[in-house]
Amino acid sequence: MKDGTGTGTVSVKDWVKAQIKQDEITPYLENGRDFIDDEKIETSIRENAGAEAERIRAIIRKAYDIKLMDDADVAALVGVTDPGLRNEVFEAAKEIKKKVYDSRIVTFAPLYCGSKCVNSCRYCGFRSGNEAITRRVLTMDEIESEARVLASRIGHKRLVVVYGEHPETDADYIAESMRRIYSIKDRVRNGVGEIRRVNVNAAPMSIADLKKLHEAGIGTYQVFQETYHHDTYRKVHPEKTLKGNFQWRLYALHRAMDAGIDDVAVGALFGLSDWKFEVMGLVAHARDLEKRFGLGPHTVSVPRLEPAADTDFSWVENRVSDDDFHYLVAVLRLAIPYAGLIVTNRESPEMIRSLMDIITQRDADTRVGIGSYTDAFSDENSDMQEEERQQFILGDTRSLDAIIRELAEHGHIVSFCTAGYRCGRTGKKIMTLLESGREGCFCKLNAVLTFQEWLEDFASPETKKIGDEMIRTEIDEIKARVPADFSQAVFDHFTAAYEKIKAGERDLYF
Ligand code: SF4
Repeated sequence: MKDGTGTGTVSVKDWVKAQIKQDEITPYLENGRDFIDDEKIETSIRENAGAEAERIRAIIRKAYDIKLMDDADVAALVGVTDPGLRNEVFEAAKEIKKKVYDSRIVTFAPLYCGSKCVNSCRYCGFRSGNEAITRRVLTMDEIESEARVLASRIGHKRLVVVYGEHPETDADYIAESMRRIYSIKDRVRNGVGEIRRVNVNAAPMSIADLKKLHEAGIGTYQVFQETYHHDTYRKVHPEKTLKGNFQWRLYALHRAMDAGIDDVAVGALFGLSDWKFEVMGLVAHARDLEKRFGLGPHTVSVPRLEPAADTDFSWVENRVSDDDFHYLVAVLRLAIPYAGLIVTNRESPEMIRSLMDIITQRDADTRVGIGSYTDAFSDENSDMQEEERQQFILGDTRSLDAIIRELAEHGHIVSFCTAGYRCGRTGKKIMTLLESGREGCFCKLNAVLTFQEWLEDFASPETKKIGDEMIRTEIDEIKARVPADFSQAVFDHFTAAYEKIKAGERDLYF
């Protein structure tokens, strides 16, 4: 196995030993402790449970300031059980989403590059030693083939590329795969099929490795803590594995910031520990990032535990009910209001539909088997889900076209915009714009331009019809906001760009 220096080989065991660098954990600790104080969180949840309705309403009002919420306020919100009060939180979450993100939804597809993993997480189908899984790692040609299907057959512009923790999918492999994906430029119906933003979901890395991803043009770097509860973390991640080190994972995003990646994403796997604790953990994570770097996470993901091949879940005691899940997503909308909220196709279409007014991103046309996209388009009989080659089972496998049509029917415009990071609107700059609501202006224009592109290049006739109607409504709305939100010059520039897209030009943005 290569050693990453190009000069020799290294065993998996030696590679594992070399990964964790204590000197890239210690500087972030305070008095030798990390920022998750289990006892303090549990006490706060207990003491704030059953808060008066008036206090909850005051917390809701404060949330409209679009600032990270105080811990005690989050604890009070997670302690609400009254359905009427929960509904008030949900309604506020809808308005806050509208204020920060309008009615836009961003879509993406996950691309799984390998099923080899050195870890042994109790809940995961890819854990080492699970013989029900067929192991493999995609070659660069195979990654290109997968990305080509997503970019040129389906029309995605944004991917989350997922890598197992293994020397065969190390930082060099990740960087090379990103470059291969960005290199695709295929002629499609009226334009070009290409991936404009590669987000990466990968293991925690050293600062030196993270710099390699930064240089290769990473969009967002996602590392989900899975559970913030120290004891639960220990129970589900065996101590002697790489993932068994809680703090190496907890500070992965801090190291990313220090490596120059200012667009990072947090997440928790709901069902491992008490959901209220996980919500508090996510907010604590955002707070520590804000405290040290002046900006919090770009997105928050809320996956729930799902079945996986040959994986026993009888030990799980904290499954999250649909009602609690629905509510916790609303609490996160209020608690970390500037962050995008991602709900994926692990959930059923009904659950995702019920959350559309408060989330900002979802995946579509998803396959999570290794090499599944290429197979799907070369063999129409291929199964949507094949347990032996995927990490978990999906709840929604509909096409991007069908999802876009449904969203448009319900008044949501799908944005394929990837302008933010390409124009330098990332990190602190984007946080300030989001908090003030000004980012929404750029996004609104870019959503129309990129949605029109997709309609021209990929939509079915039915979806194009509904999409065109939606675009007309959006343009009328933008026009009505001149000059309050858009100057006449910006509006003229926008309409010129829109006409150019209809005439075949691509990738125009503000
Ligand atoms: S959850 Fe991730 S790290 Fe854990 S076994 Fe699965 S692929 Fe490996």
